[in-house]
Amino acid sequence: MDSTTIAAIATPAGIGGIGIIRVSGTNALHIAQAVFRRSDRSQRRHAFLPESHRFYYGHIVSPESGRVLDEALLVLMMAPRSYTREDVLEIHVHSGPAALRAVLDLILRQGAVLAAPGEFTRRAFLNGRIDLTQAEAVIDVITAKTERALHSATAQVQGALKDHVASIRSVIREILAETEAAIDFPEDVGEEIDGRSILVRLEQEALRPLQALAAQYDAGHILRDGLKVIVAGKPNVGKSSLMNRLLERDRAIVTPIPGTTRDFIEESLVIRGIPILLTDTAGLHATADPIEQIGIERSVSRIEKADLVLFMTAAGSPLTNEDKEIHDLIQSKTAIWVENKSDLHAAGPAAPPPDTWRPMPRVSISALHDQGIDALKQMIETIALAPSLACESAIIPNLRHQHLLADGAAALVSAAEGIQNGTPFELVNMDIQSADDALREVIGVTIREDILDQIFERFCIGK
Ligand code: GDP
Repeated sequence: MDSTTIAAIATPAGIGGIGIIRVSGTNALHIAQAVFRRSDRSQRRHAFLPESHRFYYGHIVSPESGRVLDEALLVLMMAPRSYTREDVLEIHVHSGPAALRAVLDLILRQGAVLAAPGEFTRRAFLNGRIDLTQAEAVIDVITAKTERALHSATAQVQGALKDHVASIRSVIREILAETEAAIDFPEDVGEEIDGRSILVRLEQEALRPLQALAAQYDAGHILRDGLKVIVAGKPNVGKSSLMNRLLERDRAIVTPIPGTTRDFIEESLVIRGIPILLTDTAGLHATADPIEQIGIERSVSRIEKADLVLFMTAAGSPLTNEDKEIHDLIQSKTAIWVENKSDLHAAGPAAPPPDTWRPMPRVSISALHDQGIDALKQMIETIALAPSLACESAIIPNLRHQHLLADGAAALVSAAEGIQNGTPFELVNMDIQSADDALREVIGVTIREDILDQIFERFCIGK
């Protein structure tokens, strides 16, 4: 257990009804006694010894100057029945930057240190109250933009993924125990290892569930992490107009991208419950201008990372070489062909695509006159949900889990092949053990410090 006592403002900055300062560590009680004065005068003669998990009403008073800083509610949650499993103190005061800052400063002067981002949750993990998948899910709850994302994140906070991994691990551990006993004490075990029954168990009770769990990332992560959609098309087809049209009603949060020049514009929105990260590319066209070229190269690399491309052309005007080049660029991507400016050429069926083009779902819209936008949204929804239809489970691993689950599954495949080929169990066990190592890393039994840093960096201070 870390011996320092940490403190932070736990509520968002700004003006609000209530702001909460949170303290965790062995000094929490001492801090409560030093800075809090109960309103109940009859109690003031006694040292303040708060009951755990009980709210007290009073004032925050500077012990140095005797000045009252604010009215407050205070609650002390004694270890281990607290978020971090340490003594945790929460002080509720009015939420204004000056009020909160003054109380925090006072607490820091009593010997607490300012908490790092995610440090409360990190302590909850290090002190064994939650495993790493649950700690990671806390940030998912906080950042969830849709109900579905929230549903998955809360299931994970409650331990859905942890329990699933634990049940697979227990099968793996049992198999290892059985085979190791037979290797170490062949005379005690009496019989030879029954490779056939171990193989069946390994495949059915460990490998398959593991593969299914890893596959749930592909099926479900879009609901949680969002669908990366990129609008690609030559200049003037109406990309910005479409962005604006989609954002008009659906904008959730504007996401500035730190550290990049704005060659492209990225916005978050929610379409029919699906979080979308929408990017407008810099006009994709041949240019000799080196600066423009850099922008175009960046756009190309973003296209590669996108889940869905909205390939835009302008109706009526014939397709040009530029359109064809962009079509070739998105060859391998899931795409919708969005023909804009339908208002200009409303009459007559759309011209057939060139023979060499692959089939793509196609929709005719007018970004300017708000036509066909609902049909486009419907197509986006269908594409986003297609893989998740089979995913009824709320357990959606994140990318870190998915890599480890895939590593674990690969190790079990290799173990199964080894058993089939009659490889000695000393060697097969190494594969089974490495599958278990991967699962241990998922839940954080073994985890490198720098990976922990990466995980908790994403948290805010105070969580
Ligand atoms: P971008 O260069 O692809 O981002 O294209 P813009 O969104 O800047 O649009 C280029 C021009 O086409 C602007 O003058 C828009 O007003 C116009 N435009 C965009 N969408 C439509 C549309 O649906 N119908 C018509 N008639 N004009 C449009």
